[in-house]
Amino acid sequence: MPSHYFDHAATTPVDPRVLREMLPYFSESYGNPHSIHEPGQRARAAVERARRQVAALIGAEDPHQIVFTSGATESNQWALRLFPGGTVSPFEHSSVREPALRLGYRIAPASGPEIQWPEAPGPLVSLMKVGNELGTIFAPEALCGQGFAVHCDATQAVGKVPFEVAAIDFVSLSAHKFYGPKGVGALYLREGLAEPFVIGGGQEEGRRGGTLNVPGIAGMGLAAEFAAEERDEAARQAEACRAALLEALRPLSDWRVHGSAPASPFILSLGFLGIEGQPLVVELDHLGFAVSSGAACSSTMTEPSPVLEAMGIEEAWRPGTLRISFGKANTPASADALGKAVYTCVEKIRNLE
Ligand code: PMP
Repeated sequence: MPSHYFDHAATTPVDPRVLREMLPYFSESYGNPHSIHEPGQRARAAVERARRQVAALIGAEDPHQIVFTSGATESNQWALRLFPGGTVSPFEHSSVREPALRLGYRIAPASGPEIQWPEAPGPLVSLMKVGNELGTIFAPEALCGQGFAVHCDATQAVGKVPFEVAAIDFVSLSAHKFYGPKGVGALYLREGLAEPFVIGGGQEEGRRGGTLNVPGIAGMGLAAEFAAEERDEAARQAEACRAALLEALRPLSDWRVHGSAPASPFILSLGFLGIEGQPLVVELDHLGFAVSSGAACSSTMTEPSPVLEAMGIEEAWRPGTLRISFGKANTPASADALGKAVYTCVEKIRNLE
């Protein structure tokens, strides 16, 4: 069924094949992967298989370089806390930006998508692969080999655009952005070793304490496999949806596409003059369309997005921002229907004012 859910950058549904993979680990195969008995070892085998699948997704040489976490938020903070400071891009998600500010990191300025890194950025530099608000594709790999460590939040990249760890030192992932479950993710550690951020019973070879979320991890593993296999087809479908949506919006005045090339085909940020994004999201929801006015995590905040500002989007264009993010169940026909609904709602709100 074509879906009217267009907020896949916020989260994706769990793929039914992934759910089937996860279910036995809640009940029949409930062993603790750290137990030495057979039920424990069965769970352990699922975790190790998932580690190989996640490693393969991002081109990591050794599965040992993957440590499972509760998601990209934890992975990002862990990476930042491993260093006494550094510099992060102005386009980062709040789960990099906020801890970075607290930990004394600098935020680099930018002009458009070009980041002005300082001469001496410090021991760690963090740059995401795909921006969650505008879909901009960045090049964190180009920062490697310059005498500082590089962290990349690849949460919106994997399964969407070509991404390999290459010489990057730390990479964060979240399973629920690629049709896996929520609350599970990973941190890639190039050296394989790191001081733990969550200290506990020595799990994950002493790198992250806490009993592993076996069903979640097993689900993340299989989702990673599908993300790699189905990426190109999903991207073609997203391109077709994007084209249909933009075509449907053509008759409308005073709107534009935010951001600049290269961008992920999965994220489309639109600006509408003279209106606010939030009422537009509400109007569209009444018509059955789920979209966002920015990052889901900050959509309840009323402050303007620092990312739009850093990207140089003029103040008049910032409040009326809509983020549409495509996924596997969207079709060009449903994107066309969304485009027409956006047209109707924008006109309605403009006429009210
Ligand atoms: N980084 C980016 C770029 C994201 O889009 C998100 C989720 N919105 C996160 C990190 C955080 O992921 P999670 O909430 O799964 O920890």
